[in-house]
Amino acid sequence: MLNSLKWRNITTARTLFVMILIAGTGLVVSIVALLYLSLHLISSKTNEIDERRTTLAVQGAIQSSVNRVLSLVIDNAIWNDAVRKIYSPVLDNAWLYETWAGSYKVNNLYDGTFVLDQNFKLLWGSFRSKPFTDTNIRFLGDGLQSIIRLHGDELKSGKNIYAGITKTGAGVAIVGIGLIRPMTGRLQVYDNTRRYLVITRHINAANLKELGNIFQINNLNMTAGKNSSFSVPLRTANGAVVGYLNWRPRLPGAEAAGAASADIRHIVLLAAGLIVLFILFSGVGLFRLARNEKYARDIALTDWLSRLPNRRALIERLEDAQNPDNNEIKTVVFIDLDGFKDVNDVHGHDVGDELIIHIAHTLQAIVPPGGMLARLGGDEFAMTLEGEYSEAQASAFAGRVLERLNAPVRLGDRTIYIGASIGIASGSPADCLRSELFRRADIAMYHSKITGKGRITHYDAELNSAREYQLMIENDIRLGLENDEFDVWYQPIVDARTQTTIIVEALVRWPRRPKGELKPDEFIGIAETGGLIYSLGQFVLRRACQDLQPLNDLRLSVNISPAQFRDPGFEEKVAGVLIASRFPASRLQLEVTETYVLENPERARTAILNLKTLGTTVALDDFGTGYSSLGYLRRFSFDTVKIDKSLAGLVTEDEQAAALVSGAIRVASALGMTVIAEGVETEKQLTMLRLAGCDLLQGFYFSEPVPIASLLQLHQQQGQEG
Ligand code: C2E
Ligand code: CA
Ligand code: CA
Repeated sequence: MLNSLKWRNITTARTLFVMILIAGTGLVVSIVALLYLSLHLISSKTNEIDERRTTLAVQGAIQSSVNRVLSLVIDNAIWNDAVRKIYSPVLDNAWLYETWAGSYKVNNLYDGTFVLDQNFKLLWGSFRSKPFTDTNIRFLGDGLQSIIRLHGDELKSGKNIYAGITKTGAGVAIVGIGLIRPMTGRLQVYDNTRRYLVITRHINAANLKELGNIFQINNLNMTAGKNSSFSVPLRTANGAVVGYLNWRPRLPGAEAAGAASADIRHIVLLAAGLIVLFILFSGVGLFRLARNEKYARDIALTDWLSRLPNRRALIERLEDAQNPDNNEIKTVVFIDLDGFKDVNDVHGHDVGDELIIHIAHTLQAIVPPGGMLARLGGDEFAMTLEGEYSEAQASAFAGRVLERLNAPVRLGDRTIYIGASIGIASGSPADCLRSELFRRADIAMYHSKITGKGRITHYDAELNSAREYQLMIENDIRLGLENDEFDVWYQPIVDARTQTTIIVEALVRWPRRPKGELKPDEFIGIAETGGLIYSLGQFVLRRACQDLQPLNDLRLSVNISPAQFRDPGFEEKVAGVLIASRFPASRLQLEVTETYVLENPERARTAILNLKTLGTTVALDDFGTGYSSLGYLRRFSFDTVKIDKSLAGLVTEDEQAAALVSGAIRVASALGMTVIAEGVETEKQLTMLRLAGCDLLQGFYFSEPVPIASLLQLHQQQGQEG
């Protein structure tokens, strides 16, 4: 049971730990995913932006190349020297060659120069420093043709100069065209004569590279078809595509991502590390928590002194055995130590604690397999077990408990006599609840206690009604004390020779009980076990002292129950009553039964000595009903022995009894004890007992117990007679 609880705790902790582990792993995964996703998004956005920028740059590069050719045409066509040379009736070939063909090799700004007439027919040409002889300008491609087609008039008037893209016989080129005219003033021609300068610059790897460098475009290259998404078409004036400029994207996002990925790896590692640490710490924390909880439970379910399971643990065990699926018979054994209180009183609590631990070990060693022994508190233990044979097993266990506990216990140099009263109850969940089983075992144990202790009682229904009856009487006594239902009667004890009353024995009576009078034998025992004897005893002692106080030639004998005697404050209480009623201690005698003396020799000795110090005498009551020898009892220094009426009554009928009585009287007298014989009913008994050596006699022959008023009367008569 304790084990199952422990495992329940640890399983909960384990489940929680797994949950934290899953959550932690999930967290790591999501952090990684989030980081990489955002990185990817940023990098692709960056790439996109860069792509657009590069496209614009390429377009700008094309435009700038076109513009360069345009300015070349402007520089060379609008030039007074050129007008002079070109418009002269005879072309100066040498000048043309020197001016426009030679520079190709020098500065590489253009690769072809052509002079066209008003009909755009070739007059002169040079391509890559070589004379160009083809009169048809189809070589210069559709790009040039379309410029001429679209802007013929503007070209003719010299208002504008044009440049664009074309595809010549040698490849894709920038082409520019403009009217050759003076820098200032009108062109001095009055007919249709026109001379145009055409300049080409072919796009090649070298100039693409240069452009790429200027505009920071990677691997700028040209292809006839579109073979990559990173390209810009090259269009002629009429929109025809003559080729594509391509580049290799820089992918700065990817580059940045690549650069950042090391950092990200570190971040991820750090985060993962932290989370793993967190998981470890919370795991350790959880297990510690579970362990502490288990520890706390263990403490809550363990008896601090004996280390046995406590009452709560036993109840949990019974409840667990009582789950609906479990219909097994279960048995509870109640064990209550006899005389433990005296061990505490006489030897002190440390020895009491030591004894409890010793007994816990002794009992634990004989618990049947599957049984659970618990300490319920004080000197109470209980054992429970389940199963078809549990009652038989419990009986065997109880027998062994008595066997072990009846043997004297040695603790250090002390020998301690202890016993146990045991009750057993069993039942299936169907016929009684856990609390009921407990109550039944308790009732059975109680029965063992009041019927002489040191025995085992199995619960049955009769016991239950007996217990209920006892509870009712206890309650009645309580109410009776409150409502003045009790009286004290007195029975004279006379001198054997003179037959004058020397002592009176106080005997309690209950005449005003609403449900009818009960005899002392019917309620004293119940008052003792229910703890009411303390108040009842005090009442009798107080009342008797008050009643007898004025009759100073009479002594008073009062019965004291073992329970009262056990009370460490008892002597003080007696002293208190004596003072309050101004009753001389020397006139008081206390009657104690031998049972108590035998059970608690140590405490009995101290109590008797204390009482004798007070000045009272102590009598041993009911002598002859037990097993004690006077020899043994002498060490308690009783002043008086009262021979029980059951024995005294037999002296006239039974020779053995007579011998026993006379023997006892002899021993008692020899020890200096006064001998009282009880239950004298006949003259014959009186004679025999007197002859046997009894000092004092008590019995109906002289007087029954009488109320104080009658005693006062008797006393008066005696006084007059005497
Ligand atoms: P006990 O101490 O042995 O008291 C004597 C009992 O014997 C009394 O019974 C008395 O009435 C009865 N008795 C006296 N002479 C004769 C006789 O010649 N023949 C017969 N057959 N009986 C005689 P009672 O008053 O019923 O008391 C019974 C027991 O109750 C007492 O026995 C005593 O143990 C207990 N008891 C009575 N009063 C008190 C009390 O105040 N305190 C305590 N602790 N116990 C008391
Ligand atoms: Ca008595
Ligand atoms: Ca007696």
